[in-house]
Amino acid sequence: MASQSTKKILIVEDEPEIAQLVKHYLEKEGFRPSIAHTGVEALKLIASEHPDLVILDLMLPEMDGLEVCKSIRQKPETALLPILMLTAKNEESDTIVGLELGADDYVTKPFSPRTLVARVKALFRRLERTNEQKVTSLTYGLLHMDLIRHEVTVKGKEVPLTAKEFGLLEHFLRHPGRVLTRDMLLNAVWGYDYYGTTRTVDVHVRRLKVKMPFLDESIVSVKSLGYKLSDQP
Ligand code: CA
Repeated sequence: MASQSTKKILIVEDEPEIAQLVKHYLEKEGFRPSIAHTGVEALKLIASEHPDLVILDLMLPEMDGLEVCKSIRQKPETALLPILMLTAKNEESDTIVGLELGADDYVTKPFSPRTLVARVKALFRRLERTNEQKVTSLTYGLLHMDLIRHEVTVKGKEVPLTAKEFGLLEHFLRHPGRVLTRDMLLNAVWGYDYYGTTRTVDVHVRRLKVKMPFLDESIVSVKSLGYKLSDQP
């Protein structure tokens, strides 16, 4: 696990004063921040610098924050990159779209830099907890997945799943609340050398829902991207 001092944070903000202020506070806390002033610049820097977290302003010229967020989530190599969105109070509907697209948290402008830094730290802590857990089982409401015995039960009753259905469900349970693209799921469950199409994912998601009808509302499709398992069972 990288220590705080080695963590790179990309600030995507077109207003130079805000970007500098945020950068200053993050540096004071030992992070390694850099700045991108446009969405296009941000995507370039993400590809070349591999930041550990992105602070993404919603209001950017040309390519806005939502498009940047969507583009980050669509690429398998950055699909799980933590994103903290900066939004204004009157952008509430955009904030909701942003969270649907997979932003991990958001801070409303105007904000105090201290609050922002605290949220950044909290987000890192949350992610580290998930990464460190050596899980042998996963639960989601009344669903229980035993990763050692390869068994899924709902209300204590076993639900027989194929290996791929099991793998797909496991991937959802490990990333609740995150948008998982069809490509990501295909790569994670079927492997990069798999010769099928992303439709395979749709078919298997449907099968999971048939076998466990309560998942019908929990696994939602995210327009043109993929699927998301709701945070709340
Ligand atoms: Ca802005």
